[in-house]
Amino acid sequence: MTPDAKMPQFTAPYGPDDAAIASRLLTTARLSPEQDARIDRTATRLIGAIRTTDDRLGGVEDMLREFALSTREGLALMVLAEALLRVPDARTADQFIEDKLGQGDFVHHETKSSAFLVNASAWALGMSARVIQPGETPQGTIGRLAKRLGVPAVRAATRQAMRLMGSHFVLGETIEAALERARPHSARISRYSFDMLGEGARTADDAKRYFKSYASAIEAIGRAAGENPLPDRPGISVKLSALHPRFEAVSHSRVMTELVPRLIELARQAKAYDLNFTVDAEEADRLELSLDAIAAAFSDASLAGWDGFGLAVQAYQKRAEAVIDHVNDLARSLDRRMMVRLVKGAYWDTEIKRAQERGLDGYPVFTRKAMTDLNYIACARKLLNLRPRIFPQFATHNALTVATVLELAGGRGGFEFQRLHGMGDALYEQLGKDHPELAWRTYAPVGSHRDLLAYLVRRLLENGANSSFVAVAADDSVPVGVLLRRPGELIGTADNARHRNIRLPCDLYQPDRVNSRGIEFGDRAALNDLVAAVAASNPQVGELTDATPAIAGDAVIAACSSFRSWSQTSTETRASILERAANLLEQRMAHFITLLQREGGKTLDDSLSEVREAVDFCRYYAAEGRKLFGDGQLMPGPTGESNLLRLRGRGVFVAISPWNFPLAIFLGQVTAALMAGNAVVAKPAEQTPLVAAEAVRLLHDAGVPSSALHLVPGDGGIGAALVAHRDIAGVVFTGSTEAARSINRTLAAKDGAIVPLIAETGGINAMIVDATALPEQVADDVVTSAFRSAGQRCSALRLLFVQDDVADRMIEVIAGAAGELKVGAPADPATHVGPVIDLEAKQRLEAHIARMKQEARVHFAGAAPDGNYVAPHIFELARAEDLSEEIFGPILHVVRYRADHLDRVLASIERSGYGLTLGIHSRIDDTVDAVIERLQVGNIYVNRNMIGAVVGVQPFGGHGLSGTGPKAGGPHYLARFATEQTVTVNTAAAGGNAALMAESD
Ligand SMILES: Cc1cc2nc3c(=O)[nH]c(=O)nc-3n(C[C@H](O)[C@H](O)[C@H](O)COP(=O)(O)OP(=O)(O)OC[C@H]3O[C@@H](n4cnc5c(N)ncnc54)[C@H](O)[C@@H]3O)c2cc1C
Repeated sequence: MTPDAKMPQFTAPYGPDDAAIASRLLTTARLSPEQDARIDRTATRLIGAIRTTDDRLGGVEDMLREFALSTREGLALMVLAEALLRVPDARTADQFIEDKLGQGDFVHHETKSSAFLVNASAWALGMSARVIQPGETPQGTIGRLAKRLGVPAVRAATRQAMRLMGSHFVLGETIEAALERARPHSARISRYSFDMLGEGARTADDAKRYFKSYASAIEAIGRAAGENPLPDRPGISVKLSALHPRFEAVSHSRVMTELVPRLIELARQAKAYDLNFTVDAEEADRLELSLDAIAAAFSDASLAGWDGFGLAVQAYQKRAEAVIDHVNDLARSLDRRMMVRLVKGAYWDTEIKRAQERGLDGYPVFTRKAMTDLNYIACARKLLNLRPRIFPQFATHNALTVATVLELAGGRGGFEFQRLHGMGDALYEQLGKDHPELAWRTYAPVGSHRDLLAYLVRRLLENGANSSFVAVAADDSVPVGVLLRRPGELIGTADNARHRNIRLPCDLYQPDRVNSRGIEFGDRAALNDLVAAVAASNPQVGELTDATPAIAGDAVIAACSSFRSWSQTSTETRASILERAANLLEQRMAHFITLLQREGGKTLDDSLSEVREAVDFCRYYAAEGRKLFGDGQLMPGPTGESNLLRLRGRGVFVAISPWNFPLAIFLGQVTAALMAGNAVVAKPAEQTPLVAAEAVRLLHDAGVPSSALHLVPGDGGIGAALVAHRDIAGVVFTGSTEAARSINRTLAAKDGAIVPLIAETGGINAMIVDATALPEQVADDVVTSAFRSAGQRCSALRLLFVQDDVADRMIEVIAGAAGELKVGAPADPATHVGPVIDLEAKQRLEAHIARMKQEARVHFAGAAPDGNYVAPHIFELARAEDLSEEIFGPILHVVRYRADHLDRVLASIERSGYGLTLGIHSRIDDTVDAVIERLQVGNIYVNRNMIGAVVGVQPFGGHGLSGTGPKAGGPHYLARFATEQTVTVNTAAAGGNAALMAESD
């Protein structure tokens, strides 16, 4: 189902320049002095109410009073509570508590356990105003408590604290309980919007479960709704990501056919009770998809005549005003009314990180809070002007924002405020007293404690952040005047619109280098442009003829003869050539993506990432080369002589690369060798010579002399001939461990100089998941690590160790999420898993699958279309040792372990002899530290996926059977391609040490 062709489709620039928006908003934001004075008066009264309330923490103190513990202890326990909640076994729970009690200070652990720190920041900022004394920490308090009561009692009390925290921010565990709790405020039950908590669906079963829970909640709310007409009726808030396991831009058509009917069904049900039905706003890359789904559902004829359908709009998004215009157009074109909740936005930190990771031109959100506030006011004005077609709902706990909206409303009704349950109580009570005619709705989360976590973390972050109004308003030391400063005044001029310390994604690595440019697939215009450019690109590269051993030998001789002049080319020139190559790569991105898809079977996302990685290699080695190969390093020594250490090229390097990263690894090897001043003979994998040919052409176009870089396509025999050649000065190789061994033997058997071998090989990469990990996050990271690129990455996850207490649920979510992956043609942007490289690979993988079906427990066996496709599979093994070799495809092996047998897990990882990548999912820092300390693995990833190492950020390469190092894309790599030379000059040789003699006393 797609939106009606007549329906306007939303378009707006994704991350436009902040300054341009600021200059527009700054001119329109001005109000008259009388208006400003009224806003000051209202806001001051509201802030006064917040500050005089006995219940500044919005109810927490009240609840804690019920506790036998002091408020301080109660708050400290809450800090522990959120992660403990999902730990089923007492052993891990105690370990977790002890781990937190043992920590010296939070600042020290900042980088290790950010989620824990979130709570610590709530402790330190949001809730601390009167409760906590300077120098007190949660763990200090809990430490004393543990001494007094013992760890088991602390554990029990922590669980109790969790319940308290839950009841503070969550209205009830079930909709019935929530309605019951809301009933005493029956005057206001009509202004509740209930939200069913959850992490978003990862599996089809999750989506069904959420649908059912929304449907039964609507039923229950509807029955309790009373007789008042809209807007004075309760409602429900719905997250689209809960209704579909792949709510993402690339799965657009699936979402439209599968999710929209569900959305319509829920909306019809809400219409039957004339409820307010609001679609929550989620991440920026889902905005266009959300608006398409909303338009399709809203325009369904069955919903005509109902004014309760609505959506949330985030003012921190630069597209917020455009969204409001779009929604208004939609409502007008159907001659219907709509409700619009204006929020500032809850995912700010995530948005900043995502834009940086994807290398976007600009952020989709503002980087200064005052810009968000300014935009909120502009959006509020727009919404108020659209009354009554639009019914604005202003969701905020900020007294200044409330006062400004009130002023802009101009004494006319037709709107409401909204607040979150457990927040803003004092503010809205005061508002109600001063303006009895005003209405506000309470957003009331409903859910079990298991589903509480993500919501709680958001709220604690909001309560604790420096920039948050509620945190600052609770702090008496901040003068009211500071809280009344207008966003326009804080920004001043348009050139201040961007945060000074938050660099644009392209500047992330400055001053060394420019970040590679990426594309946001959630930006339809950008995605369409890319897809069109890829489709238009001619994949015809030329004719391929494999080299013969004689040709390979000639290439080495030719490279030898050009070595001297290339190595004497200045460092700056060599670096500039690599940077030119990077720029050319970005210009020819579509062409390379086409080739990567046709020759390497790569999905669109994988191809784009690979081109970006190649760009990063070129720029990174250029920047590193400038540092290492410039003028050399002056060494200290006695007076009267100079000592200079410098690096120079070795000679001819042979670069042998694999098919799984035919562009990035190929170019990474070649550019490193060239930057170090070597001539290069490159032999690409026999499966992917065309990508390599184009990469070599690109380097030649960028200025690498053709005599300094030679392409020698062919099979392993050609590689062997090159390695055996007398005149080579080094080999850089990425591929199998056996091939690396054979190269090593050939090199060792040769007479003449002993040359270096830089080898990067495979691994049986493991991930360890304990009971403190979040299943949904684990599922995302496991599915990405094991199945992305059809498992054909050397970093891919092969062996998953899961603590047995939580294994059933973890495996269920992982298997369910694997089942939602689309296996198919790489040219289709919706594809998650493309083909394996060739028939031989497919047959090898199928043989392994057949064997596993006999020997292991099958948790998931996907279905693949015809062709060289292998669907994801998940097998459970009795012992880790049952997997003895690297299986290079989308096949995941799972092993359960007992919490007290972690040591055995580590021993079995060690015994494999490999050491490439490792994943750990745990909230227990001691466990994480112990694993890192013990295992000599090249790349360890904690609480995230374990693939996609970024050049210059996560230098990549392994240990033991996984490679020799140094790591590609790291600061020690280039030096391995170079030889060293020390030049000592007796500066006193001609006529004595004049410099020394000239030193004055
Ligand atoms: C009833 C209700 C429903 C909600 N529904 C949604 C929803 O559907 N989707 C959603 O995303 N959120 C939703 N929220 C959460 C909402 O986004 C936050 O509660 C809100 O941003 C807090 O704003 P404030 O005016 O209360 O506080 P303030 O303290 O004035 O504002 C805090 C906000 O400013 C923004 N901000 C902070 N730092 C920066 C910065 N450096 N640069 C730019 N902006 C910054 C962030 O949005 C942050 O949340 C809802 C909130 C309420 C009350």
